[in-house]
Amino acid sequence: MKNLQQAEPIPAQAREAIEKMLQTGDLFRYTAKENAPVTLLEQEFAEMMGSRFALAVASCSAALFLTLKALDLKPNAKVIIPGFTFAAVPSAVVHANCQPVLVEVGDDFRMDMADFAAKLTDDIGAVLISHMRGHTSDMDVILRLCAAKGIPVIEDAAHSLGTTWNGQKIGTMGVVGCFSFQSYKLVNGGEGGILVTDDEDIIAKAVIMSGAYENNWQKHGCDTDCFAKYQNTLPLYNTRMNNLSATVIRPQLAEVPRRAANGLRNHEHLAARLNSHPNLTVPPALKPEHRAPDSIQFLLEDMSEPQARALMASSASLGLPLQIFGLHTENARVFWNWKFIKDLPELPQTRAMLMRACDLRLPASLSLADVDQIADALLACVNQVVQAKAA
Ligand SMILES: *Cc1c(COP(=O)(O)O)cnc(C)c1O
Repeated sequence: MKNLQQAEPIPAQAREAIEKMLQTGDLFRYTAKENAPVTLLEQEFAEMMGSRFALAVASCSAALFLTLKALDLKPNAKVIIPGFTFAAVPSAVVHANCQPVLVEVGDDFRMDMADFAAKLTDDIGAVLISHMRGHTSDMDVILRLCAAKGIPVIEDAAHSLGTTWNGQKIGTMGVVGCFSFQSYKLVNGGEGGILVTDDEDIIAKAVIMSGAYENNWQKHGCDTDCFAKYQNTLPLYNTRMNNLSATVIRPQLAEVPRRAANGLRNHEHLAARLNSHPNLTVPPALKPEHRAPDSIQFLLEDMSEPQARALMASSASLGLPLQIFGLHTENARVFWNWKFIKDLPELPQTRAMLMRACDLRLPASLSLADVDQIADALLACVNQVVQAKAA
């Protein structure tokens, strides 16, 4: 069985550029007068996304936090997030002195639009839509409802690089889109994040707060007068990206189409095989959505909790790191573990989904033969567990 935690090698161009950088020691993004690797990454990423501006930072979480700060929301403003996402998302909201409002997530891993509409009251300051595991919630409905109320939409596209919605790139539909370069995402910088926006006021504030102290904002090459007026008026968080990370990331941007296509091919192949089993369901994508998955999520049908636990154990013994979100006590993706939220609500629908939702990494580097091997192993484990019940 292939090791599903294994990353792809970093492209050779990165190694040459890093060797040069190690000679000069020029690792800080603002040392060079121009063309620092971080600046070049921002230009290349903005161009790839068709956005006016990009800002590279230390993580997607930092990008989300800076975005919330740059929106100048009222203290304690309510920010809608899905009830199924990574703990970093409500964390960014809390750190930005806002209050997360959790919305139910359905069995298709996407935000429940009825609950969203009900919770989108006039006192909501922003909507932070997290496309968890690359599953896109209904952006047509979200954007329409938010536009009608003048509420800004931020996209947490950490896991959605390469995904499109009606042909438009995910991360470019809201006022800001945030991406991650952490190692488990499509582009691997070890750590790192980037935000894209067309709004010059937001980019100016985010750049300054990310740590562009003194006149360093001038090195962003954004032709806008906005920056000067924010200099020394906003607190610095110093959550910049360094040149080493940018150098590892840049040559991987060209790999995005291949990784996205392979990921989708692998996902669809495994989904078809798992869907052929009566005890497994892989929910389909929404119609406008073209995905770039690097993992698969599926639901257990008519299986008890002991059976679900037995399935995790038997797949682990075959080298498959299968997790069921809700059965893992420490899981940072289940809302009941976000104990830093005041008055944490109950979300019965989301909880029920998480108790039977399986999560398995599916790196783009896998071949279809690898995927078949995974499918054979998983289906054998499910059969074993289900038949044990019948016996
Ligand atoms: C990984 C991830 C994050 C956090 O990204 P970092 O770069 O590690 O801060 C946020 N949201 C989602 C959906 C993610 O998958």
